[in-house]
Amino acid sequence: MAKECPACRLLNPDIAERCDCGYDFATHRIAASYAKPNDRDVIAQRGMTVAQVGVRNIKLGLGVLAAGLVWAAVVSNNGSGRPLGGLGWAIGGIVSGASFALRGLGQYRRGKRLDSRGPFL
Ligand SMILES: [Zn+2]
Repeated sequence: MAKECPACRLLNPDIAERCDCGYDFATHRIAASYAKPNDRDVIAQRGMTVAQVGVRNIKLGLGVLAAGLVWAAVVSNNGSGRPLGGLGWAIGGIVSGASFALRGLGQYRRGKRLDSRGPFL
């Protein structure tokens, strides 16, 4: 049997106590990652619940998405009638921002479900 990490959806062996992403199955919070001890994202999320990580990712994703939209508007309304270079970057920002926010939404939902079961199963 394997268990799915609610933070990153990685399948972990049943005996695993902590996922590679830093999620601790016992405390239901992000702790230090054994696999990626220097990962800045993991360090920033340390001590957070999955729902809190989800909210963080939604905010980050929406920020990137908004920046992409602004950038797209800037490069396509420059008066020359055709978009300047950089539209690809804008679209990339919109796409990755949206997928980041969606990932955060999934984490938030799974985290809320976990929270409702109490800190220790
Ligand atoms: Zn994980």
